[in-house]
Amino acid sequence: MSRMSGYDYVIIGKGLVGAAAARYLSKEAKVAIIGPDEPTDFHQSQIFASHYDQARVQRIIGKDIHWTRLNQDAINAYAALEKESGIRFHENMGCLYVNPHGVDAYLKAAPNQATQIGTNPVFYSSEKEINQQFPFLTFPEGTVGMLEEGPAGLINPRKLLQAQLTVAKSNGVTTINEVAVSLKKAGGVFTIVTNKGTTIHAGQVIIATGSYQNFSGLLEQPVAMRSKTESVILIEWDTKDPNTSKIPSILYELVHPEIEAIYVLPPVQYPDGKTYIKIGANVSEDEWFESKEEIAKWFQSGPSTTLSQKLFKGLKYILPSLPENSNYQSKPCVVSYTKHGRPYIGEYCIEGIIIAGGCNGYSAMCSDSIGKLGAFFAQNRSFPEPYEAAAFKIEYPD
Ligand SMILES: Cc1cc2nc3c(=O)[nH]c(=O)nc-3n(C[C@H](O)[C@H](O)[C@H](O)COP(=O)(O)OP(=O)(O)OC[C@H]3O[C@@H](n4cnc5c(N)ncnc54)[C@H](O)[C@@H]3O)c2cc1C
Repeated sequence: MSRMSGYDYVIIGKGLVGAAAARYLSKEAKVAIIGPDEPTDFHQSQIFASHYDQARVQRIIGKDIHWTRLNQDAINAYAALEKESGIRFHENMGCLYVNPHGVDAYLKAAPNQATQIGTNPVFYSSEKEINQQFPFLTFPEGTVGMLEEGPAGLINPRKLLQAQLTVAKSNGVTTINEVAVSLKKAGGVFTIVTNKGTTIHAGQVIIATGSYQNFSGLLEQPVAMRSKTESVILIEWDTKDPNTSKIPSILYELVHPEIEAIYVLPPVQYPDGKTYIKIGANVSEDEWFESKEEIAKWFQSGPSTTLSQKLFKGLKYILPSLPENSNYQSKPCVVSYTKHGRPYIGEYCIEGIIIAGGCNGYSAMCSDSIGKLGAFFAQNRSFPEPYEAAAFKIEYPD
């Protein structure tokens, strides 16, 4: 049982946001980051995460200008981070947003946002126009859409995490592969104790525990955040398929009682050496969690066969050439939603505790910016222009 002290900042949560915050703070301060690595055996672990994967959609224009700024700033940081870490995690194959129900609020606002940020997306007013660009994809009549070309595309969350931690460690950050189980403040100093009995003292604490904000037992007063099951399937892909390099990331805004908000990630190689195309969505089987034990049970059981078949059918509809007898495997995951629909970045109701997180399903693509803002706020109790503090204000249950 070791004692570690004298840290200016300790970050709890060694995920995408926490690792980014550690990297930015490590340039000027003494920093430690606490959090378990990705488990090799889910049945041997009690705490999980939302980044155990090889691909996450990267777009530029977000739901509103606050998200868009986060996305654009994150993308602008990638080249330097890839160079400094020597790890490539970003691919530029573009991101196709489609809505079969016609022009929605996102597509209505996109042209103005594009002008504001100086990008030039392609807009499609029919499924025929989309099909001309992507002849291997099908969408129902009445579908409209928008294509953001590179740097929109995908990020590899495992590699992004590795890149953040590689640079953070080279700047002297201490990593503690344990789980924080208690957080106390006395005499202006925070004491964190882990599941292995390690005691760490810090001037300030950043909590970046993703979907575990209310389940870690570290916050007496819960924040207004709910976490739910998320499911994807990975379908084995034949890289000899001529469309392999032409498939963009896809956001398909289908609204249906059984399945909605579908996302498709292009073929990517996984650690087992195989290449997989991936589909995920919100489904009628999704459940909201009340405890970290429920999250563990979900990661250890995973999606049902029926759910997986539903996702496969969804992709087969969009990509008819997908062989009916394709091999696929399902993967469980967890996402969290905040009250205002954006990440929380700010000071918790205890001075010196900063919260950075609340993914709303879209934070991998801007995790570098959320971590950067969390770090900036911890140092300055303010946001750098043009960010607005109110947009990321921490909210509490009514
Ligand atoms: C299936 C799926 C698909 C997604 N697709 C996309 C997408 O296409 N594009 C996109 O941008 N986003 C996507 N997301 C969302 C994205 O993955 C998350 O927003 C992102 O991972 C959040 O980063 P985070 O650092 O807040 O949380 P995480 O990456 O989950 O990291 C939190 C870390 O805190 C740790 N932790 C928890 N409690 C403790 C504790 N007590 N002590 C120490 N450590 C603790 C956890 O183990 C974890 O490592 C998807 C999410 C899922 C689940």
